[in-house]
Amino acid sequence: MSKKISKKQIKINWNEIDTVLLDMDGTLVDHHYEGYFWSTLLPRAYAKKNGISVNKAFEITNEEIMKHEGTFNWSSVDFWEKKFGIQLWDIRYQIKHLIKLHPHTIRFLKFLRKNNKKIYLVTASEPRDVDLKLSHSKIRPYFDGIYNQFDIKKAKHEKLFWKRLKKIVRYDNEKTLFVDDGVDVLKAAKAGGIKFLVLKAKYNSKRPARKSNGFLRAHHLDEIIP
Ligand SMILES: [Mg+2]
Repeated sequence: MSKKISKKQIKINWNEIDTVLLDMDGTLVDHHYEGYFWSTLLPRAYAKKNGISVNKAFEITNEEIMKHEGTFNWSSVDFWEKKFGIQLWDIRYQIKHLIKLHPHTIRFLKFLRKNNKKIYLVTASEPRDVDLKLSHSKIRPYFDGIYNQFDIKKAKHEKLFWKRLKKIVRYDNEKTLFVDDGVDVLKAAKAGGIKFLVLKAKYNSKRPARKSNGFLRAHHLDEIIP
């Protein structure tokens, strides 16, 4: 993995922050694994199953997925496995070698630990998927807690998710930083009251970075390490 060093630094007043909430896919883990799975392997498997071209299969599966964007089901492999009638988990385990951390993830987690910040993983992914990614990337020990939307029973894209999470984790909104690669999720977290928000713009090593839409924007995580 090439270690991209950012020239830009984003000033964050770490003295005001005692809790850091971190998204998993696209933020700590390179989204390439997900991108390759949903855009390449799923259409291939769907084409084979239904005897159609891969291009046609991509059109169909992509259209279905987009209909559910931001909903509870969107992030559920179980849901899509039923919907498409394909053993998606089997394929995901077969390509687990493609699960890679973004540059600076470990450095960032070590920085947070060293500075006594509480660290929580907050993800839309199913527990099974969290297990797969954390076991493979070996970052589980850094977290004080791991929360997914299936435990919270609300989509991470909704304000109510953040209200419920706060009741469980009991962080102080005024002293909490949340980093995510999704602008819509950051908007929901902001509506839920979280004060410090950063967009992890380079979510996928093979894709262009995301636009910030008004949020602080870090290409890579080293930009927020002082
Ligand atoms: Mg994400």
